[in-house]
Amino acid sequence: MRFPDFRSESFRSMGTTATLTLAPGCTDPIDLVIAQIRKVFDDLESEMSAYRRDNAIWELSAKAGVAEVTVAPDTYRVLDRGQTFANLSEGAFDATAAPLVRLWGFSGGSKPKSFPSAEAIQERLRLVDYRRLILHDGRAFLAQIGMAVDLGGIGKGYAVDCAYDRCRSLGIRDFLFNFSGNIRVSGRPARRKQWQIGVRDPFDRSAIIGKIDLPGGMALATSGGYENFVDLDGRRFSHLIDPRTGYPASGTASATVLTSDATAADGLSTAFFVLGVEGAHNLLGRVPSAEVLIIPDRQPLELWMTPGISKAFTPIPNLRYVTRTIE
Ligand code: ADP
Ligand code: MG
Repeated sequence: MRFPDFRSESFRSMGTTATLTLAPGCTDPIDLVIAQIRKVFDDLESEMSAYRRDNAIWELSAKAGVAEVTVAPDTYRVLDRGQTFANLSEGAFDATAAPLVRLWGFSGGSKPKSFPSAEAIQERLRLVDYRRLILHDGRAFLAQIGMAVDLGGIGKGYAVDCAYDRCRSLGIRDFLFNFSGNIRVSGRPARRKQWQIGVRDPFDRSAIIGKIDLPGGMALATSGGYENFVDLDGRRFSHLIDPRTGYPASGTASATVLTSDATAADGLSTAFFVLGVEGAHNLLGRVPSAEVLIIPDRQPLELWMTPGISKAFTPIPNLRYVTRTIE
């Protein structure tokens, strides 16, 4: 996304790119702000990465079934929010999906050369259950040996909320923060009433299907099967795993969530991706504040939208699509 007259600065963290965009008229020293946010992100990454062997997330799995672990406040908050989304989605979002995520070659697991066997999947499935991740008073415990936690489905959203809070506390009013499709905006850009965010075409990464207006303070996240995948037996599998079956989620091309904070948008976009249009209704009943746009993985293009996101959405000219309402 490029905005003329807007000032943007990016940095790399957690294997992807973060960008802060300031509206015209903002005179804040963007490089100093970025330096602060980068430090915050680097700290979050060392605390929460599932790729390291020196943090509480690793210790949690190393001591699974044996002992609880004291976790730092940010990690505890993310685990706790994750449990909220796990409960709401009845396990479609599940931070304990790590053994499955790795089996399919994501989050540090080695890429499988052939299709994992039904036995291997069943074995890992037995280790996945958010109800056996116990959080209490700054401490966390995994109830069974072999269990593990992966915050990849929610951590980037949390980082965005931290960046948002930092910018606000520095007095910056009108900005957009984008971290690999996890977005939160503040205030408004010049001239326009609201920030507008492009929605990627899940069938053609280089194109967008339209734009969504985002009021100041709100967040938007998209989970897409096109982001990260593994090819096996001539089929493509996404990095989002359905913890109920043990297989990569299928049937959804992308799920976009608009809500009040980026942690919720991130966690819920993962959940809606797994649930697809069939399961979305149930979850929406439990999180009425979320607005969603779900694109099933089939042709012709179908956009399933809640009324709120439908009002905020402007398709690109000549887009051929069918709309459906999810309520
Ligand atoms: P991205 O990280 O590409 O923006 P997501 O936010 O949807 O996309 O998160 C995908 C990551 O979440 C995966 O790489 C994996 O680490 C983790 N994950 C996969 N399936 C689940 C799930 N069902 N529940 C929670 N986390 C998951
Ligand atoms: Mg997510």
